[in-house]
Amino acid sequence: MSDVIQLLPDAIANQIAAGEVVQRPASALKELLENAVDAGATQIQVIVKEAGKQLIQVIDNGKGMSPTDARMCFERHATSKIRTSQDLFAIRTFGFRGEALASIAAVAQVELKSRQSHSELGTLIQIEGSEVKRQEPTASPVGTSVAMKNLFYNVPARRNFLKSNPVEMRHIVEEFQRVALAHPEISFSLYQQDLETYALPAGKLSQRIVGLFGKSYQGQLVPCEENTPHVNIKGYIGKPEQSKKSRGEQFFFVNNRYIKSSYLHHAVSTAFEGLIPQDQHPFYVLFMEIDPAHIDINVHPTKTEIKFDDERTVYAVIRSAVKQALGAHHVTPALDFSI
Ligand code: ADP
Ligand code: MG
Repeated sequence: MSDVIQLLPDAIANQIAAGEVVQRPASALKELLENAVDAGATQIQVIVKEAGKQLIQVIDNGKGMSPTDARMCFERHATSKIRTSQDLFAIRTFGFRGEALASIAAVAQVELKSRQSHSELGTLIQIEGSEVKRQEPTASPVGTSVAMKNLFYNVPARRNFLKSNPVEMRHIVEEFQRVALAHPEISFSLYQQDLETYALPAGKLSQRIVGLFGKSYQGQLVPCEENTPHVNIKGYIGKPEQSKKSRGEQFFFVNNRYIKSSYLHHAVSTAFEGLIPQDQHPFYVLFMEIDPAHIDINVHPTKTEIKFDDERTVYAVIRSAVKQALGAHHVTPALDFSI
């Protein structure tokens, strides 16, 4: 009997893992944006070419990386965000798996520039198919720029699976909206080809909503808030007139992380019952704060699904918060919600 099992080389292991993390340009953007937020950036610029197939670049003014860390960050399971398994139950950063950059670097050509405020020079790294092609000191502003070029250049089958540019761009804009909503205190801009399509100054959530979805939301947002021992709810719902047939303007965040939940969507929908036509969906941007010990965000690598210990309570609180907000809105329809 001869032994046949071998450990896979890193480049292949990374490529396999990348299948989980990077399904399309938008999923890479999500990871890069979250890293920029985790780095404490107050300004984030996104540049997209060919719907992200040619280029996604995220430039932040966050804390930057040392030359060694700039190299380390492309290793799998390399993270500065958790150290022990205990930390897994108290995650406050977006990232923690240490998988994103390793995955991206396995399936794209990546150029990273980074400088910390106390260093005079930054560092430049070029990496391709998990292999470092170049690392050298470079002039760079404080912060980090990651450019992901030619996604799936080395995995033609997956490149062919990408959808048309308008479809991929829609996913990109959705990711951008989610992160921008969760962080009105950070200024964001988005360039498509060379055109600036979003310019969002730091401000209040209501201003961010108007900046993202248009002036028609001005004065049309009803604040929604409820505090209970289990969960705190905060955010805005759109007045019934803002409801639409198409979905896409419904946002839940748990501890500032965007999540999808048809169960909780139902809670909002039923609160709107009788106020909007059955085939329309209300606008909402609702933030839930829950003790991280009562949720499990480790369910899925892209982390848009989470498990609640007590989903029913959350459902009930959301429904009541929305009902109350609507009730208050009916009593005093002329309230100015100070946008
Ligand atoms: P994770 O975010 O799960 O830790 P990543 O692969 O996304 O894993 O990033 C690995 C590490 O690289 C991070 O833990 C962080 O220390 C560093 N890093 C990544 N992006 C940035 C950035 N924009 N600014 C500063 N440090 C970064
Ligand atoms: Mg990350």
